[in-house]
Amino acid sequence: MQTIDKFNFAGKRAFVRVDFNVPLSENAEITDDTRIRAALPTLKKILADGGSVVIASHMGRPKKNPDNKYSLKSILPHVSELLGVDVKFTADCMGAETAKLAADLKSGEVLMLENLRFYEEEEGKPRLADTATEDEKAIAKKATKESQKKFTETLASYADCYVNDAFGTAHRAHASTALIAKYFDEDNKMFGYLMEKEVIAVHKIMTDTARPFTAIMGGSKVSSKIDIIENLLTKVDNLIIAGGMTYTFTKALGGKIGISICENDKLDLALELLAKAKANNVNIVLAVDAKIADAFSNDAKTAFVAVDQIPDGWEGLDIGPETEKIFTDVIKASKTILWNGPTGVFEFDNFTHGSRAVGEAIVEATKNGAFSLVGGGDSVACVNKFGMADGVSYVSTGGGALLEAIEGRVLPGIEAIRGY
Ligand code: AMP
Repeated sequence: MQTIDKFNFAGKRAFVRVDFNVPLSENAEITDDTRIRAALPTLKKILADGGSVVIASHMGRPKKNPDNKYSLKSILPHVSELLGVDVKFTADCMGAETAKLAADLKSGEVLMLENLRFYEEEEGKPRLADTATEDEKAIAKKATKESQKKFTETLASYADCYVNDAFGTAHRAHASTALIAKYFDEDNKMFGYLMEKEVIAVHKIMTDTARPFTAIMGGSKVSSKIDIIENLLTKVDNLIIAGGMTYTFTKALGGKIGISICENDKLDLALELLAKAKANNVNIVLAVDAKIADAFSNDAKTAFVAVDQIPDGWEGLDIGPETEKIFTDVIKASKTILWNGPTGVFEFDNFTHGSRAVGEAIVEATKNGAFSLVGGGDSVACVNKFGMADGVSYVSTGGGALLEAIEGRVLPGIEAIRGY
């Protein structure tokens, strides 16, 4: 497989798919440029080699072409500043003018294309009126698939090689994230540095796993994590169940949970998951005590009780000290650790203790040689809030893509380059 480090971009034009879908303020100012900075090593390597770059990205969910609210033009000055290059811009990612601008790129030059999703062909989904009939939908879908081929070919024609550095969209089989790869031969397509790091981290967790492997699944609901839990039950040695999910399990086992968050239609499922864990020899680690509150508020009255003895009118908003000890002992003895989701309502300062303790245990285990991956929305916010990002092996930027990878799905953006 080709790698960005081995590849010499001198005299080549690279089509680089990045994820510049950054949050913007009302006045179209960038409020967080992490995603742009994350792609800089890849872009700079290409330019340093003497190559030129066509930058391609999506932004938001435009509904028409053009949709100025989602124009990438607003981020152009910042991208130029960070790259130290006067980046050219083309207000349409298709068309003869764009093809010419791309063809004329000289060594060290950069061209940024307008938002790819202005074209429905990028996602391959037609934009239909709500009133469209099933027949109309079917016809439009077929037409978009056909025009998507032309769209993809055109994007591919802008460059000599393809670099995918947009892990955040790796779970989408879109024109620029996956379909385009087939227009480049093996030696001329590769992951960018950011994407490569994500792919390696996921591989270390899911395939090349040092044992014991412990996953900590927190967050609010079992229903949003079922597929992940089911897949992890075939992989992990220990599965720590934390956060709001705890109470669905506790209730299923006959405990009293007061008004704690609970999915009553998932009680049977919780028992099934426990049975599956037993059959697979997976050690499921459940909370034994909870920090409870008499209201869903940071200033609520609090107490510590056994997790299955929560009084009426009270709810569990974090784990208690005994649970903390059990969880952290398991984590510290692990060689591979995956953390997804807080142990409690970490947005309230009075209910962060458990999540912080879990984070600290992961940092300690990492110091002692474990590989730790933190990923999926709120756990990333957690390690950032606690200033622990540098103490874990890898913090994924992937969100949905990471979750699909740990559900065991093949990600189209990875498959398109790696072949599996
Ligand atoms: P998720 O997006 O599924 O990872 O869930 C994260 C959210 O779960 C955070 O906003 C937490 O506040 C919430 N959460 C964690 N523990 C609890 C709990 N015991 N009760 C209610 N919400 C919780």
